[in-house]
Amino acid sequence: MKGLVLKSTGSWYVVRKEDGGLLRARLRGKFKNKGLKLSNPVAVGDHVTLELEGEEGSAVITEIAKRQNHIIRKSIHKTAHAHIIASNIDLAFLVVTLVSPRTSFGFIDRFLITAEAYHIPVTLLFNKIDLYDEDTLKYQERVRKMYKQIGYDSLVCSAAEGIGMEEIKQLLDKKVTLFSGHSGVGKSTLVNVLVPDLDLKTTEISAFSDKGVHTTTFAEMFEIGPETYLIDTPGIKELGIVDIPKEELGGLFPEFRPFMAECRFNNCLHVKEPGCKVLEAVEAGKISLTRYDSYKSILEDEDNRR
Ligand code: GDP
Ligand code: ZN
Repeated sequence: MKGLVLKSTGSWYVVRKEDGGLLRARLRGKFKNKGLKLSNPVAVGDHVTLELEGEEGSAVITEIAKRQNHIIRKSIHKTAHAHIIASNIDLAFLVVTLVSPRTSFGFIDRFLITAEAYHIPVTLLFNKIDLYDEDTLKYQERVRKMYKQIGYDSLVCSAAEGIGMEEIKQLLDKKVTLFSGHSGVGKSTLVNVLVPDLDLKTTEISAFSDKGVHTTTFAEMFEIGPETYLIDTPGIKELGIVDIPKEELGGLFPEFRPFMAECRFNNCLHVKEPGCKVLEAVEAGKISLTRYDSYKSILEDEDNRR
């Protein structure tokens, strides 16, 4: 029997059967994930194979299908352990606002490179457009155009006034979607407008870290329509953390890639190296300065973390 993991408590799981019914399932034996030392072998969003147990409505997970992608969180103890927050995400909506509060480009670009690293498509949602004056609306169009040119779609909306909701619903349809964004941008309001009868009462999941300390994470998947799911990860405003080697950071900026390939040194960090084609492209206005500034600031942060 096949199923989809909707919720995990760390020791047992809520699994949706193909007929829509729910099962309580547990793991049998050891599951090994190559490369990663995981504190949870099964995550929300996993497609699993189940065997029914004697007890009514209860099952054992015997197999996990290969994940299309997954987002992880590192253990707070800086060990090699990681915790999978969710898997098989088709789309991430990054909710941003240009006023009240203003989302920084640094935050947006950090989110985008993480999504690139995780292979998760992102659509930017510019919310609160009811608050924008004419100049801000013009500015918004420039920002959207900049992101569009490098391959990121965006929508404008107002959760407060119900603007743009139909377009968002169409994008959600038949997908597993995650909503992210800085606090205050209107994520909860948006989700409430999109799915009014959804009760986002999340279940607290306590995952034991390796030192036996409780770290609390939340993640749950909600069925909001036929084959349509929303993953809720309250408290996780970014897409988890990935360690990105400095030499690979540029490759997570899609618009850098064609230029990078032509840099004189193949380990070029695009900061001050001679023959750097990325720098030339920035100077020629072919790469936006805002994006390049984000790149440099992320690179410096990586330096400081070492
Ligand atoms: P979250 O922290 O991202 O979940 O943000 P909330 O949904 O709690 O919203 C933060 C504040 O922004 C609340 O006071 C909302 O009423 C308000 N808000 C959300 N969406 C809109 C919008 O489209 N327009 C306006 N004017 N306010 C909004
Ligand atoms: Zn370079």
